[in-house]
Amino acid sequence: MTGQMLRLGISRCLLGESVRFDGGHKHDHFLTDVLGRYVEWVPVCPEVEAGLGTPREAMRLVGDPDRPQLITVKSGMDHTEAVERVSANRLQNLKRLSLSGYVFKKDSPSCGIERVRLYNQSGMPSRQGVGIFARAFMNQFPLIPVEEEGRLCDPDLRENFIERVFSYRRYQELLVKSPSRQSVVQFHTMHKYLLLSHSHPHYEALGRLVGQAHRYHPKELAMKYGELFMKALAVKATVRKHVNVLQHIVGFFKTRLTAQEKRELLGVIDDYHRGLTPLIAPLTLIRHYVTLFDVSYIHAQVYLNPHPKELMLRNHV
Ligand code: SF4
Repeated sequence: MTGQMLRLGISRCLLGESVRFDGGHKHDHFLTDVLGRYVEWVPVCPEVEAGLGTPREAMRLVGDPDRPQLITVKSGMDHTEAVERVSANRLQNLKRLSLSGYVFKKDSPSCGIERVRLYNQSGMPSRQGVGIFARAFMNQFPLIPVEEEGRLCDPDLRENFIERVFSYRRYQELLVKSPSRQSVVQFHTMHKYLLLSHSHPHYEALGRLVGQAHRYHPKELAMKYGELFMKALAVKATVRKHVNVLQHIVGFFKTRLTAQEKRELLGVIDDYHRGLTPLIAPLTLIRHYVTLFDVSYIHAQVYLNPHPKELMLRNHV
């Protein structure tokens, strides 16, 4: 897997393919033109794969929130079984592809991951639905990061998703190499500051887990670690948490800075804290000092380079 391109599943209509019920698409240019440079997309359209054709009658979710039916809006035809059958087959195929994430089309009765319109028997909608294929996917692959294209317009949610995708990929690489207890501990060490920027309680729980590594078989340890690791990264990073991490890192080399350098660096961190400058500003300065002073422990921290800089995910205020 090492060196292989990152592989992500995607609702086919987001790539600009005309597979929607109305014969159209929902091309998302960030996904194809920007993120697409770093990932190999695996497109899936469960409705077309179920043989429903394009264009086709619009459908909606009806009934029980935990096991809704997929019903055509005008003629009332029930396509639940067809889409469920295709979903089960497709998941078997996706299992072999080692996906590192999935981008779903929001609001779709097949692909939406949350808040999809669900109608009760009297035709009243609520926002409790989950698309039939999306639900099956999330049940089958609970650790794989998933997101909807609409939420990716929010810079914080976008960074969080992409950070989780790249982190999950590193975790997959750890698993592929038959992890030892030591490699799990090393993995934890290099993710220390990334974890702290998301969740201190999860970071501590992971620390306790690796502290008791000898109690587990290496594979069991890696599985337990991965579950908690992905939960930690799903907790939103905040400015306050980033500031805390930056100050910790500065502690490794601040005695080697001149008074003016220290003032300048703390000033940039403070500007970031007050929303005057993006995270990339203090980070660039810190990376410079980490290299200059050869602070190897920090150099190895994923936090400094969690995803390709060309994605410019830390460049917003
Ligand atoms: S939302 Fe899903 S089912 Fe609907 S057109 Fe897009 S890929 Fe197909």
